[in-house]
Amino acid sequence: MATTATPSTPDGAPVPDSVPKQTKQTVDPYNVTGEVGADGVVKAIDYNKLVDEFGTKKIDDELLARFERVTGKKPHHFLRRGIVFSHRDFETILDRYERGEPFFLYTGRGPSSDSVHVGHTIPFEFTKWLQDTFDVPLIIMLTDDEKYLFSDKKTIEEVQGYCASNVKDIIAIGFDPAKTFIFSDFDYVGGAFYRNIVRLSKHITLNQARAIFGFNESTNIGRIHFGSIQGATSWASSFPHIFGEDEKQTVGIPALIPCAIDQDPYFRMTRDVSARLKFQGKPYAKPALIHSLFLPALQGPGTKMSASIDESAIFMRDTPNQIKNKINKYAFSGGKVSVEEHRQFGGDTSVDVAYQYLRFFLEDDDELEKIRIAYENGEMLTGELKAICIRELQKYVAGFQERRAKVDDDTVKLFMERRPLKWGGNPKAPVV
Ligand code: ATP
Repeated sequence: MATTATPSTPDGAPVPDSVPKQTKQTVDPYNVTGEVGADGVVKAIDYNKLVDEFGTKKIDDELLARFERVTGKKPHHFLRRGIVFSHRDFETILDRYERGEPFFLYTGRGPSSDSVHVGHTIPFEFTKWLQDTFDVPLIIMLTDDEKYLFSDKKTIEEVQGYCASNVKDIIAIGFDPAKTFIFSDFDYVGGAFYRNIVRLSKHITLNQARAIFGFNESTNIGRIHFGSIQGATSWASSFPHIFGEDEKQTVGIPALIPCAIDQDPYFRMTRDVSARLKFQGKPYAKPALIHSLFLPALQGPGTKMSASIDESAIFMRDTPNQIKNKINKYAFSGGKVSVEEHRQFGGDTSVDVAYQYLRFFLEDDDELEKIRIAYENGEMLTGELKAICIRELQKYVAGFQERRAKVDDDTVKLFMERRPLKWGGNPKAPVV
């Protein structure tokens, strides 16, 4: 759906420099922007097109019903509302859970600023829920090396400096320390992990990396190599302190990776190599994925909220007043130009940022539905909708900040220490 006129963001604001001036929809780990039409209009991200292009599967009602049968848990509202909408091999993970076979969760964060934003909390909140549901180990990777390699300005010291505060943010989501290992690439690369990085990199040609990520002759070679670091984290044998030293056993343990769909190219590449690799005759498990939509930028659904574009984001360190001002000032509205017109024709919730944020953060299905109807039939005005969004986001961020204040340096050390983890898995699985 079209959302604006030239020069391009939905409210006609100048296009941030990071949004390429182009016409095709681009979604990869480094760029997220909807198609720009001939009239210069940035359209909302077309997620169905991504499913087709990437070759993933949509999460359908049948899969959700199976999930509920196998876990005994009602699907999370992200699943019920199609926010977590696509997957690769999630059925295989459910098969393993049913049989009591091991798997683990893996997600991450690139420390590009000293605070995460509300968009980053989407995969983390969902991952926590999966950890509680499946009772399995979780690996969280901080790609400080990536943020250095992919930025023209940031120094190594700067990105490393962001790690500690980002880890505190991540811990504040509520992960269980007994089952969670957090590491920074700069600190953890070496040993079994580095062996896997090199194994993976040996099976990716420059041509493949170019085709997957769009690199060219001027791309620095660190960027070209980085995919093998992100990929090797999905192999359990990179973590002998958690899964044991016997690589013949650990190569068969798959990861389930919750992430927004921009990260898929890394794991498409890793899955392809996993399918071709064996360790002493035993095949490497392909990582499974479960993808979420992007929490849109305040400027509209044509791009994602990004820490690198300050005015696009609500940060988890923002005060209630900052949240209020940002929503009131920047949040793109699906409302009509005048109150009269809005009362007559109603608003468009599919592009309204305040409504879209409520889809992510307001858990009560009935209340959300009432808001949708009232806004679409013109009963509710943009100001009222924004007020509800402000209230919900202030509540969410305040709860986070309360937990964040209790995370000290010792807790960070605990999560980042190389140590065995303890988990239970499926209590109802048959004993073998
Ligand atoms: P930024 O410029 O904000 O740092 P990023 O995509 O580089 O953006 P990462 O820290 O690399 O941020 O992303 C960590 C995880 O959060 C990934 O799974 C990514 O897909 C997800 N993510 C990032 N932005 C959003 C968003 N706006 N909505 C939902 N998920 C997001």
